[in-house]
Amino acid sequence: MDQDQDSQVNNREALDDGPLAAPGLTSRRRVLKYGLSSLACLGCGGAAVYYLTSRTRSATAAAVFKNDAPKGRLWELWQKRGWVKEARHYLKLGQNVQCKLCPNECLLEPEDRGRCRNKVYKDGTLYTMTYGNPCTFHVDPIEKKPLFHFIPESGVFSIAASGCGFRCLNCQNWDISQRKPEETKDPRGDPLRLSPRRLHLVSRSDTDRMSMFPEDVVALAEYFDCPSIAYTYSEPTAWFEYMVDTAAAARAKNIKNVWVTCGYIQQEPLVELCRVLDAANVDLKGFDDGIYQKLNSGKLEPILATLKTLKREGVWFEVTNLVVPTYTDKPPMIRRMCQWLLENLGPDYPLHFSRFHAAHKLTHLPPTPVEVLIEARSIAREVGLHYVYVGNCREVDDAETTFCPGCHKPVIERNIYSVLSVNLEDGKCKNCGTKIAGVWS
Ligand code: SF4
Repeated sequence: MDQDQDSQVNNREALDDGPLAAPGLTSRRRVLKYGLSSLACLGCGGAAVYYLTSRTRSATAAAVFKNDAPKGRLWELWQKRGWVKEARHYLKLGQNVQCKLCPNECLLEPEDRGRCRNKVYKDGTLYTMTYGNPCTFHVDPIEKKPLFHFIPESGVFSIAASGCGFRCLNCQNWDISQRKPEETKDPRGDPLRLSPRRLHLVSRSDTDRMSMFPEDVVALAEYFDCPSIAYTYSEPTAWFEYMVDTAAAARAKNIKNVWVTCGYIQQEPLVELCRVLDAANVDLKGFDDGIYQKLNSGKLEPILATLKTLKREGVWFEVTNLVVPTYTDKPPMIRRMCQWLLENLGPDYPLHFSRFHAAHKLTHLPPTPVEVLIEARSIAREVGLHYVYVGNCREVDDAETTFCPGCHKPVIERNIYSVLSVNLEDGKCKNCGTKIAGVWS
């Protein structure tokens, strides 16, 4: 993509700010600046009080990419393709805007780009640049998400667009999550809209210019006989508008929706999403705010709020915890996390401990030792969680087996995302009749 030099420099500056203290400092300076201009614009005592409160809350707003929105021909082509849509959750603040989709709460001046890389503020409107333009799609087994208690052995039509509000040092999909839409898609050339009829005409090299609008995603899921669609691989919250519209179209056709997420989202958009959501896998990346900031550039509290809301809204979910050596492998922290899950959500939402393998900026670390994973599983069981799994690890016995919490016999045996045996009928253990939590059909 022909991004100009200035953009590259600005991006580097924004990234070099680092995920922690620097964005806060930058933001506080900017908050003062915005606060002053906005107060002048409002010119009313009562409103000003509200405004100061609002600005104070924004003191944690993340660093953004300054003057980095696409311009000229590139923007025109992006619009022409239909790859642009107005964002659903933002506030107008005088000449500027604040995105209210995720807790980063980016403050944007005209021509800025949000921290997730795909929200841009142009011509008085906040736009998402990832609408109908996924950068990848696959049919996966549902067990790969991982979801072990949700329509087992089914295929899930999985899509991703670029972007993420986090900066995880261990990101496995950094080549799409840490990319701008223009780095994964190319609006030049003839338009190409993917549908079941055109599948055989499309080659891998066409993916860059290919569109897949919500109804196309649904048609493809039907074509591949998938009972669900997953929004996954990068962080789907970053392409919220595309996800929600697709999920609504899927619902209308009786296809279920799965959100695979870091859970970093504000409550209002989350409740909106829950209306069309059937299941989620939420990465609970640790249970210490300092580590969340250091490892992921995020905060713990919003993730916990997301889990509680999913429960309240009746969305089935499973939790994944990646055990990263030296970061999230301490037994006392794992115990605190399991206790929180039990006390706030109950024993029935599955917990998947996942083995770390070197990735992205943590290539110097070894894989999680097997004994650490076994200990994590023992802690979770001891605390009282009913369904505990170990992923990405062949060396642990029964790593992916669901045991009945009543008679302790296996009800589903799996191996590396394949289901080997099922001892379940109408969601109950065939041996003792205990109900097994989940969505089974
Ligand atoms: S969704 Fe993107 S633009 Fe909006 S607050 Fe989060 S990181 Fe910023």
